[in-house]
Order: sequence, then structure tokens, then C-alpha cells
Amino acid sequence: MKNPEEIKQEKSASPSKNNDLMVQPATDAALDLRAFFVDCLKDIYWAENALVGALPKMAANATAPSLGSAIEAHLAMTKNQVVRLESVFELLGEKAEGKKCEALAGLLKEGDSILEETMPGAVRDAGIIAASQKIEHYEIATYGTLVAFAKTLGENDAAKLLAQTLAEEKESDCILNEVALNAVNIIAAE
Ligand code: FE
Ligand code: FE
Ligand code: FE
Repeated sequence: MKNPEEIKQEKSASPSKNNDLMVQPATDAALDLRAFFVDCLKDIYWAENALVGALPKMAANATAPSLGSAIEAHLAMTKNQVVRLESVFELLGEKAEGKKCEALAGLLKEGDSILEETMPGAVRDAGIIAASQKIEHYEIATYGTLVAFAKTLGENDAAKLLAQTLAEEKESDCILNEVALNAVNIIAAE
């Protein structure tokens, strides 16, 4: 693995790179894929915990019972995903700790403004689904990457646990599609 000093040297040696755009690694930058994998786990651990905090507000703002119950079910699932991530950290011999996920923080902020910008009822429900699906897609992308990293690193038990969560996130996205098609979009268009 290259250390930051080698990267710096390589940077000045490579004529095809625009040196002004090359980012200087932080002092705690990951030196190998395993370290980066653990960083990514901390990011999603923060994100899942933030969702445990944020989902009750989304459920409280839902009008369609099918949406409310879908979010409640997702909250229970998310709490279990937090515990599952703790098992992954344990398998790796790492401490379970979160590191702020700027992407999810942004998606939650956007979710809050969607609530403010909609009247309670079918339109707000449609907004909640839109915001929730953006979050599910972020999680699907994240867990897809984490499963691939775990497999590459030979961490097969961790890969299995992460694949379980990946499957749950995909299922949640499908459920939101069904709720939208069956109830919310129809009423919102009226
Ligand atoms: Fe999740
Ligand atoms: Fe993130
Ligand atoms: Fe999710």
C-alpha cells in the first residue's frame, strides 16, 4: 500500500494529472482497503442510528395507514440493522463507532424541507415516500459496496451479515413502491 508520501511523489511524477486538483490525504487517511472498509462501516453505522432517530417523525407525518405501518416496520428493521452492524464490527475486532455520514445528513435535511413544503395528506405522503426512497437507494449503494469489500478482504461472515441488510434495504424500496402505486400516488393526483 502507498503511504501519503509516496502518493505525493507519484503526484508530481505523473504528467497526465492536474496536480492542482489532487487532494492531499488527511493524516488519518486509510492506508489499505481494510481500513477504508472500516471507515465505510462507521459511516453507515452513523447513518442507521440517525435513521432510528428520524423515522418516528416521518411515521408521525404520514396520513395513509399503509405508509405509516411501512415506516413503523422499517424502524424496527433499522434498529436490528444497527445491532447487525455491531456484530460486523465485532467480527472484525473493531470498536463499533459512528462517523457522520454527510450524505444521509443531507438526505434527512431534504426530508425535513419536504415536510415543510407539503400539506399533511396525500401530497405530504408522496413527499415522504420520495425522501424515503432516496434514503433506501443510498443504503442499497452503500451495502452493495460493503458486501463487495468484505468479500474482497476474505471477511465472509461479515459479507453474509451485510448481504442480509442489503436484501432488507432492497425489499424496503419495493414496499415503498407498492405503497406509492397502491395508495398515495392515486390520491395525490386527485
Ligand atoms: Fe438501513
Ligand atoms: Fe455516507
Ligand atoms: Fe433502509
